[in-house]
Amino acid sequence: MPPSPQVIVRVDLSRIRRNAEEIARRTGVAIIAVVKADAYGLGAGRVAEAVRDLVDGFYVFDAAESVRDRLFERTGRRTIALRGESEDAKDYLAYGIQPVVWTVERAAALRRARPILSVDTGQQRFACAIDDAAQVVAAGGIDEAFTHATSGQQVGEFVTGLQHAGLGALKRHAAGSSLLGDPTAWLDAIRPGLALYQGAARVATRLVEVRDSHGPAGYTGFEVPRHGVILAGYSNGLRVGPCRVNGRASRVLEVGMQSAFVECAVGDRVGDEVVLLGDGLKLEAVAAQWNATPHETLLRMAGAGEKEYAAG
Ligand SMILES: *Cc1c(COP(=O)(O)O)cnc(C)c1O
Repeated sequence: MPPSPQVIVRVDLSRIRRNAEEIARRTGVAIIAVVKADAYGLGAGRVAEAVRDLVDGFYVFDAAESVRDRLFERTGRRTIALRGESEDAKDYLAYGIQPVVWTVERAAALRRARPILSVDTGQQRFACAIDDAAQVVAAGGIDEAFTHATSGQQVGEFVTGLQHAGLGALKRHAAGSSLLGDPTAWLDAIRPGLALYQGAARVATRLVEVRDSHGPAGYTGFEVPRHGVILAGYSNGLRVGPCRVNGRASRVLEVGMQSAFVECAVGDRVGDEVVLLGDGLKLEAVAAQWNATPHETLLRMAGAGEKEYAAG
């Protein structure tokens, strides 16, 4: 979806750094920063540069993401890539990418690129059964394994499964943001995405019309005493939900293709700022009203406007 030229997405790189520092201090294990999907829309290259000295490496969905954003050149850190077109180790080595593997064939083909094993503990995709792990490890000369766990129990199964397979010496990681509160999930490294970006995006625009309402207004016939209009709509990813106008909690009442109605109060004027995310309006609060996950909400918010970076 194209960004609205009237919306500013301010990305606070120093906040992302502070988040990484705080997570590192709390867990005491290595951080693999998840910067897939352009760092959830915040800009993978900029985010990676901002945290490079705090992390062990990066994680992306497709190797092409790391190549496009020159992550290795810009940070000197490795990228772990879940997928990649190439079956030639050279194509990964050249970019400091370690491919994820879950078949004997791909592990063997990519052996020189130091592949990483993906073990299934419940997702049932992009991973091999624990029973097949030893064969894949042998084929790829593998020394690191991960699973995409969503519960402490899955982490436990991963750890004991590796031990029983004689793979207890591998470097292991399992936890994304949702398991950062569970010390048993930390293992040798953690892979936070969302937790790094918490509080780092502020999304704002300005009122282009403000007027007293007369009876039902808009397509949906909403009724409020006073309403305003902003130049962002569902073509920019926006949905009906909370916002802040002049520091006051308010609502996006109705969303059209490229504009939206906002509830206003006496004293609100054309040019006043409408904050869609940030300034105390939290991602989780927006996500709840958008009926979306925080991940999807951040991606939509980050894509809603032109990005601007604050010191990193
Ligand atoms: C996306 C992803 C993560 C990070 O998830 P968050 O909930 O954003 O922390 C970690 N590991 C893998 C394999 C992922 O795909």
